[in-house]
Amino acid sequence: MLQCPHCHKQNMFAKRWALPFWDFGTMHRTCPKCAQSFVPEPGFYFGASIISYGIGVLTIAITFVLSYWLGIRNTIPQIVCVATAIVFIAPFNFKFSRAFWLSLFVKPC
Ligand SMILES: [Zn+2]
Repeated sequence: MLQCPHCHKQNMFAKRWALPFWDFGTMHRTCPKCAQSFVPEPGFYFGASIISYGIGVLTIAITFVLSYWLGIRNTIPQIVCVATAIVFIAPFNFKFSRAFWLSLFVKPC
Protein backbone atom coordinates (compact mmCIF):
# COMPACT_ATOMS: atom_id res chain seq x y z
CA MET A 1 0.00 0.00 0.00
CA LEU A 2 1.17 3.51 -0.92
CA GLN A 3 3.89 2.01 -3.09
CA CYS A 4 4.44 2.17 -6.80
CA PRO A 5 1.51 0.29 -8.38
CA HIS A 6 3.78 -1.00 -11.15
CA CYS A 7 6.79 -2.49 -9.33
CA HIS A 8 5.63 -2.40 -5.67
CA LYS A 9 9.20 -1.61 -4.57
CA GLN A 10 9.22 2.15 -4.03
CA ASN A 11 7.04 4.47 -1.99
CA MET A 12 4.96 6.95 -3.94
CA PHE A 13 5.36 9.61 -1.25
CA ALA A 14 8.57 11.23 -0.04
CA LYS A 15 7.56 10.98 3.63
CA ARG A 16 6.40 7.68 5.00
CA TRP A 17 4.51 9.15 7.96
CA ALA A 18 2.28 12.17 8.39
CA LEU A 19 4.95 14.32 10.00
CA PRO A 20 5.68 17.10 9.43
CA PHE A 21 1.98 17.68 9.00
CA TRP A 22 2.40 20.44 6.37
CA ASP A 23 4.54 18.18 4.18
CA PHE A 24 2.85 14.80 4.26
CA GLY A 25 1.65 14.91 0.64
CA THR A 26 4.94 15.36 -1.19
CA MET A 27 5.07 12.79 -4.00
CA HIS A 28 7.85 11.59 -6.21
CA ARG A 29 7.23 12.55 -9.87
CA THR A 30 8.35 9.13 -11.09
CA CYS A 31 9.28 5.84 -9.50
CA PRO A 32 13.07 5.68 -8.95
CA LYS A 33 13.04 1.91 -9.53
CA CYS A 34 10.92 1.48 -12.68
CA ALA A 35 10.38 5.09 -13.90
CA GLN A 36 6.60 4.75 -13.72
CA SER A 37 5.13 8.25 -13.75
CA PHE A 38 3.14 9.09 -10.63
CA VAL A 39 1.61 12.14 -12.33
CA PRO A 40 0.41 10.79 -15.70
CA GLU A 41 -1.34 14.01 -16.72
CA PRO A 42 -2.29 17.38 -15.22
CA GLY A 43 -5.33 17.08 -12.99
CA PHE A 44 -5.03 13.31 -12.82
CA TYR A 45 -5.71 13.15 -9.10
CA PHE A 46 -8.99 15.05 -9.34
CA GLY A 47 -10.69 11.64 -9.43
CA ALA A 48 -9.00 10.69 -6.18
CA SER A 49 -11.24 13.23 -4.45
CA ILE A 50 -14.16 10.83 -4.93
CA ILE A 51 -12.33 8.18 -2.93
CA SER A 52 -11.24 10.78 -0.39
CA TYR A 53 -14.84 11.92 -0.02
CA GLY A 54 -15.98 8.36 0.66
CA ILE A 55 -13.31 7.85 3.30
CA GLY A 56 -14.26 11.18 4.88
CA VAL A 57 -17.96 10.32 5.04
CA LEU A 58 -17.13 6.90 6.49
CA THR A 59 -14.89 8.55 9.10
CA ILE A 60 -17.64 10.97 10.07
CA ALA A 61 -20.23 8.20 10.38
CA ILE A 62 -17.98 5.93 12.43
CA THR A 63 -16.84 8.76 14.71
CA PHE A 64 -20.40 9.96 15.22
CA VAL A 65 -21.66 6.48 16.13
CA LEU A 66 -18.63 5.85 18.35
CA SER A 67 -19.02 9.14 20.21
CA TYR A 68 -22.75 8.53 20.65
CA TRP A 69 -22.02 5.03 21.93
CA LEU A 70 -19.46 6.47 24.38
CA GLY A 71 -22.13 8.77 25.82
CA ILE A 72 -21.36 12.04 24.02
CA ARG A 73 -24.86 13.24 23.18
CA ASN A 74 -24.43 17.01 22.80
CA THR A 75 -23.91 18.52 19.37
CA ILE A 76 -20.80 20.64 19.99
CA PRO A 77 -18.70 17.85 21.57
CA GLN A 78 -19.77 15.53 18.75
CA ILE A 79 -18.67 18.08 16.16
CA VAL A 80 -15.33 18.44 17.97
CA CYS A 81 -14.88 14.63 17.95
CA VAL A 82 -15.70 14.38 14.25
CA ALA A 83 -13.47 17.34 13.31
CA THR A 84 -10.59 15.87 15.32
CA ALA A 85 -11.00 12.50 13.61
CA ILE A 86 -11.08 14.13 10.17
CA VAL A 87 -7.89 16.11 10.87
CA PHE A 88 -6.03 13.06 12.19
CA ILE A 89 -7.08 10.84 9.31
CA ALA A 90 -6.39 13.49 6.64
CA PRO A 91 -2.82 12.34 5.78
CA PHE A 92 -3.91 8.72 5.43
CA ASN A 93 -6.98 9.75 3.49
CA PHE A 94 -4.93 11.88 1.08
CA LYS A 95 -2.26 9.25 0.48
CA PHE A 96 -4.55 6.26 0.24
CA SER A 97 -6.99 7.90 -2.15
CA ARG A 98 -4.16 8.95 -4.49
CA ALA A 99 -2.45 5.56 -4.37
CA PHE A 100 -5.73 3.76 -4.97
CA TRP A 101 -6.66 6.07 -7.86
CA LEU A 102 -3.29 5.57 -9.56
CA SER A 103 -3.47 1.80 -9.07
CA LEU A 104 -6.71 1.75 -11.07
CA PHE A 105 -4.83 2.94 -14.17
CA VAL A 106 -1.39 1.31 -13.86
CA LYS A 107 -0.78 -2.34 -14.60
CA PRO A 108 1.42 -4.25 -12.16
CA CYS A 109 4.52 -5.84 -13.64
ZN1 LIG B 1 7.99 1.42 -9.58
